[in-house]
Amino acid sequence: MTFTTRFAPSPTGPLHLGHAYSAMLAFDMARRAKGQFLLRIEDIDRSRARREWEDLIYEDLAWLGLSWPKPVMRQSDQQHRYEAALDALWSRGLLYPCTCSRADIAAAASAPQEGAPLHGPDGVIYPGTCRPAVPPSGPRPSDVPLRLDIGRACSTLGDGFPLGFREEGDGDARDVCITATHLERDVGDIVLSRRDMGTSYHLSVVLDDAAQGISDVVRGRDLFDATAIHVLLQKLMDLPVPRYHHHRLIRDAEGKRLAKRDDARAIRLFRQDGASPADLRAMVGL
Ligand code: GLU
Repeated sequence: MTFTTRFAPSPTGPLHLGHAYSAMLAFDMARRAKGQFLLRIEDIDRSRARREWEDLIYEDLAWLGLSWPKPVMRQSDQQHRYEAALDALWSRGLLYPCTCSRADIAAAASAPQEGAPLHGPDGVIYPGTCRPAVPPSGPRPSDVPLRLDIGRACSTLGDGFPLGFREEGDGDARDVCITATHLERDVGDIVLSRRDMGTSYHLSVVLDDAAQGISDVVRGRDLFDATAIHVLLQKLMDLPVPRYHHHRLIRDAEGKRLAKRDDARAIRLFRQDGASPADLRAMVGL
């Protein structure tokens, strides 16, 4: 399989040095492997995604010397595929509607006998308040968040456990094993369709990596824990499991990982200050 990787930013703010590192690393790996580097715009969060940030992504990446095939996949154009996947999971009894607010979840998850709420890769581990004893029937509701019944999902995979993926990030190649116990206890029933999006990061990223034929996912170590969710979804939907390269994170002078709000390290500002792409490569250690 040809090495195919992608950079998948969300257009919710300016790209910073951490994004520059991730994108250049993926681009360099694809070039070395004589493979493909794709760009995907992850704009499912319509309340935060802006066209001007998307345009700046194209400008910044081109300035860094990266190129990619066009047209670029934009997740806001892919809603029909997310809906089809949700319909299929719903008809298999793996989803249920959840009407809990964040406050309800925090209160239920920290009930006296439970102690402090436990966090998984997707926030507070859902205490199961809305989980039905038998899977809901009838048409899939579209105006309410839908959660994955992770216990039921694991049961349908039966003998498929443990699941696994190949991790090759930062010289640390190994096979990572994912047990049903880990998914049920440390991840819990995650939301696969958010009320205002009709999908979720986890569902869309998995469907789009498969649709784009991604063989190697190159992304920050902050997403390592979410990979167990992604592999579970790949197995449930019969999609290939790519190799993963979770890379080190670029930190600020205080050792904190950069976030979108760290405008001071926006690529755009380095450009305006007369830095060259080679300067940015040197700054991130490439
Ligand atoms: N869109 C995600 C972000 O900007 C990246 C998702 C991924 O690489 O899997 O953090």
